[in-house]
Amino acid sequence: MHIQKIRLTNFRNFAATEVEFAERRNLIVGANAQGKTNLLEAIHVLGLGRSHRDRKDQNLVRFGETYYRIEGIFQHIGVRTTIEVTYSEERKRIKINGKEARPAALLGLAPVVASSPEDIDLIKRSPGYRRAFLDLALSQVSREYLASLQSYARALAQRNVVLKRSQEGRAARGETAVWDEAIVDHGENLVTARIAFLAEIRPKVEETTSVMSGQACEVALVYEPRGYSLSSGPAADWDGSAASAMLRGSVRDSLRRALEENRHVEVARGFTLFGPHVDDFKFVCDGRDIRLFGSEGEQRTSVIALRCAEVALIKAKLGHHPIVLLDDVFAELDETRSRALTALISEFDQIVLTSSRPGALDDTGIRRIAVAAGEITYDG
Ligand code: ATP
Ligand code: MG
Repeated sequence: MHIQKIRLTNFRNFAATEVEFAERRNLIVGANAQGKTNLLEAIHVLGLGRSHRDRKDQNLVRFGETYYRIEGIFQHIGVRTTIEVTYSEERKRIKINGKEARPAALLGLAPVVASSPEDIDLIKRSPGYRRAFLDLALSQVSREYLASLQSYARALAQRNVVLKRSQEGRAARGETAVWDEAIVDHGENLVTARIAFLAEIRPKVEETTSVMSGQACEVALVYEPRGYSLSSGPAADWDGSAASAMLRGSVRDSLRRALEENRHVEVARGFTLFGPHVDDFKFVCDGRDIRLFGSEGEQRTSVIALRCAEVALIKAKLGHHPIVLLDDVFAELDETRSRALTALISEFDQIVLTSSRPGALDDTGIRRIAVAAGEITYDG
């Protein structure tokens, strides 16, 4: 799938702007604060229903305006798809080929993988960033995962309501039971899928990390359940599908036990303390946790490796490449790593890249899109 054209109305610093993209290589150039990142962000909203750097849609509305609209035309082996996202009066409306659709309908349609300097949060900051990575990557390739994610969130909210009432002494005994079951069922799906995902991307992550750092290194992506433990070993043990039934059983038992054993604590606190909504994973390189011991450059390399693996996985699962958005990714990499990255991304399909260092991509057939104060010109 690739994006052909995007039309923006009142989106960030764009009042009314149209941009046409080349099928493969696009380089957005411009001075600071001209709208380069905003343009990538708009593509991200079309692909995933939301921004990669801002949770509040209101912030995406051009200052002084009341709504934004993004329209995109996508093309995939001769089939045209239009996606429109409009936000006004605190409501987001999505249209696919002119028909109203739910946000979930977007996922997998025009898959997008984005990497930007803020991506470092994925390594450095709280577990929520890593869960978001897992959830978004998995939601793009699996409707089933997305459905479990939504059901889990609903069950969690309901269970928390009951726990809150129990805390205040207003709930009947056993009232959480029905939600416990839902938590275990959907939780099992989420945790199993995440562990399988980490096992699946691990080889690619290791390869990319090794290529970029110029030396072989061993990577482990270790799923970390919080407040419960899986009866056998780390994620690496669960490679291959033969183990998956065993893994499911183990996840299920552990989750159920965590809920039972901690009920009194959860009642005292008034919300659900354990489960996939608090889990984490660890990026281990040559035995060292990159979050704790990695240098800035190593951490950047790690996220890029995760993103490259995400691209490969989407390609493998959906049969076509995602649109890859790269915001300033070369800025903080040394020569060796930049060169390695250039080679790595050469196998991607459509790339939209912003760079303060043009020339990072091989220049054949590249479209240069110049942005100045929200106005577009094409050169080269
Ligand atoms: P840099 O090279 O520094 O990364 P950039 O070209 O990527 O710059 P953007 O992040 O796209 O810049 O932002 C361009 C401008 O858009 C900024 O000056 C910012 O203040 C402005 N901007 C952000 N949100 C809005 C909004 N809701 N309405 C109007 N302008 C906005
Ligand atoms: Mg920018």
